This record gives sequence, C-alpha cells and structure tokens, in this order.
Amino acid sequence: MRIDIVTIFPQMLEGFFAAGVIGAARQAGIVEIYIHNLRDFTTDKHRQVDDRPYGGGPGMVLKPEPFFRAVEFIKSQLTVQPRVILLSAQGKLFTQEIAKELARESAIILLCGRYEGVDERVLHICTDELSIGDYVLSGGEAAAAVVAECVARLVPGVVGKHESLEQDSFYNERLLGPPQYTRPPEFRGLRVPEVLLTGDHKRVEEFRRRAALEKTLKNRPDLLAPSPPAPLPSEEEGSQG
Ligand code: SAM
Repeated sequence: MRIDIVTIFPQMLEGFFAAGVIGAARQAGIVEIYIHNLRDFTTDKHRQVDDRPYGGGPGMVLKPEPFFRAVEFIKSQLTVQPRVILLSAQGKLFTQEIAKELARESAIILLCGRYEGVDERVLHICTDELSIGDYVLSGGEAAAAVVAECVARLVPGVVGKHESLEQDSFYNERLLGPPQYTRPPEFRGLRVPEVLLTGDHKRVEEFRRRAALEKTLKNRPDLLAPSPPAPLPSEEEGSQG
C-alpha cells in the first residue's frame, strides 16, 4: 500500500513514521509512505499557501491551487485511482470500520489543513472528508498520523501476528479489547488474575470475553446499545411495490 501525506509541516510526521511497526513495514517495503511539503506545489516566489478568508473573519485559509497541484503530481506517479482524504473536524467520523475499508485500497492521499482550514473547493478533488473526533486540532498532521497508522497496521504483514489484531478493541465487533498482563505475576500486592497463569486456553478465553464485556459496559456502554432500527420506507417508496 502507498500512503501520501500533504502538509505544510512535513518535519512533524517524518519522525513519527520512521519508528515502530510502521517504520519496520516501510523498511521491508510492505507500506510506502511519502510526506510532501504543500509549499513545493506553489508557483509564487514567496511559496504562499494561505490567504485571507472571503467574507472576512479572523485567521487565514489554505489556498486551493497547491492542493490541486499536489494531488495531480501524486496521481501522476500512481497506476491506480487513490482515495483522496481531507482531514477535517467537519468530516465523517473515522472508525475502525473505515480503517478496514481503507486498508483494502492500494493508495490513499491524506491532505492536512491548518489555520482556519482549507478552501472548500479542495473537496472537489477529494473522495472523503474525515474527522478523528469531535474536537478541534490546530492542524491535520496529528489526524493524518492517526489515520495512516491505523490503516497501515491492518495491511497484511505489517503486524507480525494477525491474531493480535483480532484481539484488539473494535476489530470484529463493537467491543473493547480484554485487559492484558505480563510478568511479574505479583507487583506491589497487585496480582495477575489466577486464570491467566493456568495455561487452560478455554478458561483464559472465557475470562477475556467476560472482562472485555465488563470493560465495555463500564467505559463505553454506548457500544453495547442496540443499533437504531432501519428507517421505515416513506409512503411513496412503500406504494411502489
Ligand atoms: N475552522 C475549522 C472548523 O471549524 O472546522 C477548524 C480548522 S483547524 C484549526 C485546522 C485544521 O486542523 C483543519 O483544516 C483540519 O485539517 C485539522 N483538524 C482539526 N480538527 C480535526 C479533527 N477533529 N479531525 C481531523 N482533522 C482536524
């Protein structure tokens, strides 16, 4: 898989993607990540990427032209149609389901905003607008890091053992993952649950399932609530047969 990220602060992301499983996957050639400086796609002498908002108001808005050029340049290097994603607090909420969907793509391009945001016309070259949560960051870089890492770790071969992904929160169902423990078995009077030391796989599985349910109920009861029923067909739709 190839991931291209467009930002005015490439240095924020370079270190992030150099380490850990993603760094190793890049070295092994399983995932390619390219970070582009938006300023490289300007044409004026000052390499200006922003301007004042039409209609007035505080702050600056990122101009459309450099984003169009950046996406055209990246696309010219690809043989497939990429998903082009604008990171935005106004986007659809990024979830594990969306991460799974994106991990099946061969190429994605992530566009990072800054300041007051990005000229709305940039959405014309985007397939998606994604938010990582109902809060506002100063820029799209942290959001791009979240999306890219979450997607890349689902690409086969990136995480050594696929079963460790299956144990993760949200992987197969709307459930948090079970608690994990490691050595020592007792630390400052805090003991690892006995069942995990027995080697009895069936009991360990039962314990993990119950503990995951309890944790979900405590921290995220909304995940266990039944999904709302599908809307009833409108009268017109219903009368069409
Ligand atoms: N004025 C914008 C608004 O009301 O939505 C907020 C702009 S924010 C200060 C600057 C940039 O940070 C955005 O263009 C976007 O790229 C990024 N950003 C902020 N919050 C985000 C979020 N929750 N998810 C994804 N990107 C976010």
